[in-house]
Amino acid sequence: DVPGGWGVYDQAADAERRERRETLEGLRVVLAGAPGAGELEVHYQPQVAASGVVVGAEALVRWRHPDRGLLAPAAFLDLAEERGLMGALTARVLRRAAADAAGWARRGHRLRVSVNVSTSVLVDPGLMPLVEEVLARTPLAASDLVLEITETMLMKDPERALPTARRLAERGVGLSIDDYGTGYASMGYLDDLPATELKLDRAFTARLGRRERTAAIVRTTVDLADRLGLRLVAEGVEDDATLRALHGLGVDETQGYLHSRPLDAAAFGCWLDERAARTSGSPAPRTGAG
Ligand code: C2E
Ligand code: MG
Ligand code: MG
Ligand code: MG
Repeated sequence: DVPGGWGVYDQAADAERRERRETLEGLRVVLAGAPGAGELEVHYQPQVAASGVVVGAEALVRWRHPDRGLLAPAAFLDLAEERGLMGALTARVLRRAAADAAGWARRGHRLRVSVNVSTSVLVDPGLMPLVEEVLARTPLAASDLVLEITETMLMKDPERALPTARRLAERGVGLSIDDYGTGYASMGYLDDLPATELKLDRAFTARLGRRERTAAIVRTTVDLADRLGLRLVAEGVEDDATLRALHGLGVDETQGYLHSRPLDAAAFGCWLDERAARTSGSPAPRTGAG
């Protein structure tokens, strides 16, 4: 036996516990708006119609950490959820995203903006007042705001999600079922839930060129979305062949590294300007420029 083996294990577990504690403390500081723990940033990834028009952007949170660099959501979202910080985080992202979308609109780019929410946030009584506040403060139209909830999360508690989903629908705010097709979900919820969009999980997009059966699933999903009056967005499009295959199967809107990686707000604004200049042969139209 190596007595030191346990010691090594303890050290690793200690290091992990310490990192979690530091991450949590940092998150609290960041959410309180106090200096020293970096900044939460919202990055954006475009959603592009088959016509080439940019129709939307998904807001994706990042944490610019003073020592650890730019952290992806996987590094801190679970902890935020576990420690009850998701409401504060989502409020931050939603306010930022609405303000940024209003800025793009002022520069002549009207697009939808999609914000991810977890179940705990979707069922929180604070969500509708937050949505109302954001819509009142920014010129963003309700129909240009979309909340995304993953199918997996939705299936954990479809009954509790329903009242909020109905209120969002009444208000004209979009509701998207994210990572659609991977949640081992029954189709029953689609019958009740007033969603406006399905986001086909990137697992299907990735397999499209490799497996014949995948095309049948995508085509059926296009048909289902069409019949239910839902928008369909395919995520994770990384190459031209896949984009053409999706268009061939009737998928209109796509999102993925092929169009652009998620960009910070300033870079995304430039990306929109450049793209508009390229596709119209003239600078982006400006509104309200006097
Ligand atoms: P999601 O909502 O499914 O977002 C898409 C994820 O796929 C993003 O990862 C994006 O960077 C990545 N992605 C985009 N295009 C491609 C592609 O072509 N190929 C590949 N391989 N990946 C691509 P990210 O930003 O790391 O976010 C991961 C997840 O974290 C998101 O998945 C979403 O569920 C969650 N998330 C992100 N921001 C927020 C937020 O503000 N609030 C909440 N509650 N969840 C968030
Ligand atoms: Mg999403
Ligand atoms: Mg997704
Ligand atoms: Mg996904």
